[in-house]
Order: sequence, then C-alpha cells, then structure tokens
Amino acid sequence: MHQRALDPALFNGGVALTRTQHPDPGRLCCVTMQAALEMRCEAHDDPFACPDSLIAYHEGLNQFGLIVHDGDRNVVVIRHCPWCGAALNAAA
Ligand SMILES: [Zn+2]
Ligand SMILES: [Zn+2]
Repeated sequence: MHQRALDPALFNGGVALTRTQHPDPGRLCCVTMQAALEMRCEAHDDPFACPDSLIAYHEGLNQFGLIVHDGDRNVVVIRHCPWCGAALNAAA
C-alpha cells in the first residue's frame, strides 16, 4: 500500500472523486471487480504503473486483462472474472 496524503485536487465539493477504468462500473459482475477497476492510488494515474493494480480494462476492445507488471503494458486477457467466475465479454 502507498502512503496516502490528502490531495485537495482529488476532492470536488467535499466529495472524493472515484476514478475507474470502466465507464459503467454498476454493470460489472461483482463488487470485487468494481473495486479492482477503481483507481484508488494517488501516486499513479496509470494502472500499468501502479503495482497495486491487478486488472486493466480496454474499453475499445471490451476486454479485461490481468496486468503483467514487467515494465511494459502487457496483460493476460481473461474471459471470466477471477473472483466470481462470471463471463466478462457477454453482450450487455
Ligand atoms: Zn500506486
Ligand atoms: Zn466478478
């Protein structure tokens, strides 16, 4: 875990902005996946740069991937949620 300092830029009218990779997290299969796609780290804007990040979502391809933290932007594409087993690419 990273040290977290309060950064005023992350607050908007007193409400913390939740950044997420997914445009509609409410449609994700489970809250664990929702949490995995949220960007809670204040040290990194890029999920590939943050060692705490597990999952990347590619909106154009509608694909989910496990981030391979080897310094490059590699993922292992997954078709089922690693937590609840739901199919990830089913048409909404
Ligand atoms: Zn980080
Ligand atoms: Zn799930």
